[in-house]
Order: sequence, then structure tokens, then C-alpha cells
Amino acid sequence: MNSFADRLLAWYEQHRRDLPWRRDRDPWAIWVSEVMLQQTRVEAVREPFERFLRRFPTPAAFAVASDDELLLAWKGLGYYRRARLLRDGARAVVERHAGAVPGDPAALLSLPGVGTYTKGAIASIAFGHAEPAVDGNVERVFARHRGITADVKTAASQRLLRALVVEHLPPARAGDFNQALMELGATVCTPQSPRCERCPVRSGCAAAKAGNAAQLPVRKPPRQAVTVTARVALALRAGAALGNRVPAEEPNAGQIELPGAGILRDLDPADLATVLRQRFAARVTIGAELARARHAITHHRITVHAHAATVAHEGALQWFDLAPTTPWTTPSRKLLAAVAATDA
Ligand code: SF4
Repeated sequence: MNSFADRLLAWYEQHRRDLPWRRDRDPWAIWVSEVMLQQTRVEAVREPFERFLRRFPTPAAFAVASDDELLLAWKGLGYYRRARLLRDGARAVVERHAGAVPGDPAALLSLPGVGTYTKGAIASIAFGHAEPAVDGNVERVFARHRGITADVKTAASQRLLRALVVEHLPPARAGDFNQALMELGATVCTPQSPRCERCPVRSGCAAAKAGNAAQLPVRKPPRQAVTVTARVALALRAGAALGNRVPAEEPNAGQIELPGAGILRDLDPADLATVLRQRFAARVTIGAELARARHAITHHRITVHAHAATVAHEGALQWFDLAPTTPWTTPSRKLLAAVAATDA
């Protein structure tokens, strides 16, 4: 019988999806795609990926991007911290490697924002190194195939999973093998209902034999959700709204938000004017609720309420254009859209 790798690679050649980042082996393009695909669906990445690479075709081009250019280029993807780390990485590539993404796995791993997985993906796909790249898909495939019942996120399980990939990985086709494993996890060995009848590595699969695929992999339960009722002031003036730049230590840092106590803080409507005076030295009268929007950040389930505001003194707040080029946070944009729809 053909080996695990032979069967997997034969299946991959027939069934691989045509994704923009699979069209060439440019390490920068692969790096960008891997960062964008963290916590984001493949379909949501296609368009931003192509747009981003047109605007920043090399690490050197992105290394000099301003914060606003970065936010605009990353629009629609969320988790902007990833983009900042990618820019830090691009700057390190310019400073240490004359602008060329290094092929050496150790040099890759020393770049800001590049962890074990991303290092493995770039080293194997772009440079053909026999490096494992264990993402959530690969964890699932091997946890099921080998019947691993320990928590896959422990350091010991991660070592075991990397060793299993290396054990099966054909050195001449490392990049294809890693991508094939990810593709199998994404399209056949899926989280909820794996399609074992279509799986090229079904023979020898412990979970298919035991009928417990749906229970694997084992992960410790997610943190319990915390609900937050945030409130912001909404003042509009000739195509602009009053806002502030989100401070560095908060989620969505560097973007523009409607002003309040911060997206993760509960606030009573009676306290909103006081908070704006304390945070921004602004004098604002707060009125009725105009709109609300739901948003989630990690385990926080947030409802943001926007209240009409009459401004006597802006203090440190500023008027920001409502145009799509202004990097409003997603909840602020949802609230502005809801109010515009009511007014229409
Ligand atoms: S046989 Fe089923 S459980 Fe096993 S690897 Fe394939 S899809 Fe996953």
C-alpha cells in the first residue's frame, strides 16, 4: 500500500483549492498569507491578500508603511496586532537581511511575529526545508489519525505532533505535504463532521476505526464569555464624527473610535459625560440612545450603545471624516452605519 504521504499528496494534487497565495513561492507572499489566515477564514482573506500585496509587494515597501496605511491595508481582517507584528518583522528583514526574507529556519524564527508555525510554513513552502508546520488543521488530522486523547495544546502534545509530521514528511516535497495536511483538515477532516469516506488516509486512522473523530482533538474548554455593556458618544458634523485614536494598550490600538470609556469597559449612561471630561477634557451633553452594535473580542461579548451628544468643547477629541479611508474601528463603523440608515 502507498505510504501516508503518497496517498495524501495524490489526493492534494486532485483536490487542492486554487488560492491566491498558492500561485507562487514568494516567501513574503506566503508570510503575509499565513499571518492573515490566523483567526480568519480563507474566503475572507482572498481579497485583502491580493490588495495588500499590490500595495506592499515587498517587506521593504511595508516596513515604511504609516499606521494609517497599515490599518487601511488590513481593513476587514481585524486583529490589527498581527499587522503591526508583520510590519515589525518586515523592518527586521530590511535591517538584518537587506530586505530578503531569509530561508534559514532559525533566522526566520528570530523575526518579530514569526512563531514556530509560521517559521515552518515559510521554510517549507517557500524554501523546501523539511520543517513541520502544525496549525489547528494539522492538530486535528493527527490527533484523530493517531487517536491522541491528551490536550493538543500542551507543549508535550505539540512536540509529539511536530514529530509525527516529520516522521511522514517527504523531504523533497515538504511544502506540498504541509499544505496537503492543512487542506485535508480544512476540507475533509473538518471539526464538526469529518468526511471519513472521502479521506485518503482513512486506512490506519484510529478515530475512524473507533468512531470517536467528533470528540477529537481534545482542547481545554474555552474561557467563559464575559458580557460588556460599553457606551459611546455620537456627535456628527458635516460628514465627520467626533472621535479619538484608540490608545496603544487597548484592542484596536491606533484606529479611530467613537469616544467612551473604552470598548472593554461597562459604563452607565449617566457616567458617559464625566468619562469624556476625565479622559479627553471634553464638555459634552449626553442624550438619547441612537443605535447599538454587537461585537466580540476574544471572550468578551460586547454591546456598544451610541448616545446622541451635543458638544460644547471638544477638548482632546477630534472630528474625523466618515469616508471609508478613515480607520474607524469595526463597532464604531457599525454604529455610524446604523445611524446613517435611520436618517436615510
Ligand atoms: S479518516 Fe476521518 S477522522 Fe481520520 S483523518 Fe480522515 S477524515 Fe479525519
